[in-house]
Amino acid sequence: MNSQQQQISSSALLTRPLWQQHLRLLLVLAGSVLTLLILMVVFSRMDNNEFVLTETPVPLEVASTVQPDSVESTGTSSKPLNKMSITLREGETIATLFNRLKIDHSELHSMITAHPRNKILTHIRAGDRIQVVYDDQHSVHELSYRPNLTTQLTIRRAVEGFDSNLTSVQLDHRQAYTHAVIKNSLFASGKRQQIAGHLLKELVEIFQWDIDFAKNIRSGDSFSILYDESYLDGQKVGTGHIAAAEFTNQGRTYRAIRFIDPKGHVDFYTPNGMSMKKQFTRTPVRFTRISSTFSLGRWHPILHRLRRHQGVDYAAPSGTPIKSTANGQVVFKGRKGGYGNVMIIQHGRQYSTLYGHMKAFAKGLNVGSRVQQGQLIGYVGMSGLATGPHLHYEFLINGVHRDPLTVKLPIGSPVPYAYKNQFRAHVNRMLAHMQTHQQVEYASAGQKKDDLNA
Ligand SMILES: [Zn+2]
Repeated sequence: MNSQQQQISSSALLTRPLWQQHLRLLLVLAGSVLTLLILMVVFSRMDNNEFVLTETPVPLEVASTVQPDSVESTGTSSKPLNKMSITLREGETIATLFNRLKIDHSELHSMITAHPRNKILTHIRAGDRIQVVYDDQHSVHELSYRPNLTTQLTIRRAVEGFDSNLTSVQLDHRQAYTHAVIKNSLFASGKRQQIAGHLLKELVEIFQWDIDFAKNIRSGDSFSILYDESYLDGQKVGTGHIAAAEFTNQGRTYRAIRFIDPKGHVDFYTPNGMSMKKQFTRTPVRFTRISSTFSLGRWHPILHRLRRHQGVDYAAPSGTPIKSTANGQVVFKGRKGGYGNVMIIQHGRQYSTLYGHMKAFAKGLNVGSRVQQGQLIGYVGMSGLATGPHLHYEFLINGVHRDPLTVKLPIGSPVPYAYKNQFRAHVNRMLAHMQTHQQVEYASAGQKKDDLNA
């Protein structure tokens, strides 16, 4: 059979010219060489690729085997540890959570018994968050838990059992800015701007001496607040106090800056260092004598019956100037029975003062007028029920009469002289912050207008 085939092929060869037979051989040879070359190139490329790829994992492998835990079993230790941040579900405890993670109960027991403070783990409930690091053998390497915002408990595997550490977590403080134009009410406008309620309350507290928030807020009034925010791991966790504020009430702008002096005393001041809490002067008039003191019951010389005297009578010549004892606002002006001509001034939210038996009121003052401490408000007289010219003066806190001669007056001291340089630097910084924010606000408001016009 073989010889027959050979014969056939040799006869075929013989039927073609010699050069054709050589060309075919040459082509086969060339093809083989080319294929070999291509294969060599491809393989050398693959070699290169393989080299590049294998080079990076090597140090990682080395690094992971260096870890003391994995020295003995290199094979499994190269796998990464499981690090999980878990919020406990409804009804879950640390024990049931460990079941969920398939961690042996003895692990939990040795963690809790490692240190008395670790007992707190047994109080963890739904909504609490823990971080746990465990390996493929389900043995815990580290567990951390924050019993409160600024404390962290860390339990780490030690050579024997577990170590327990309590560390304090530093909160980040940043300053934020907000601005609002009042449409109808301060609190409604604040709410619309999503300003925290306690910031609005603090704002009212600060400016209550200058602005009547109950009656004198107008649509178009505006305010800007620089306030503290605290962050934990980049997450906002709280809104703190006002650092600086500005309030424009009926076209007049008031500013307040918080200042913490080196002794730790905190107060709000005007940019000039005056306290936002306005001081009262003790007496509203230059008197000759105190003709009647504050008492809960005395014989009234004209009414001829026992009456409470809820103020102090300062005897003074008719026409003696009467001055407001603090900044405030006129809330009553007119005749009031036995008091004769009376003016009542409201100071902040809590305080009011009453001035009676006046001969006349100061010109230009009406209900709603703002008065400064020491400003002339009227003149001593004997209008109403009075035996002689004197000023009847009352002092009320939250509507309750107090003895004007002994009442503890709210003291709003200016910034102590010793701290004036620190205060000035602080004020400049705060006002600059405020201005930067306001410019941004103004520019973006202008942009919105332009957008609308376009
Ligand atoms: Zn009196």
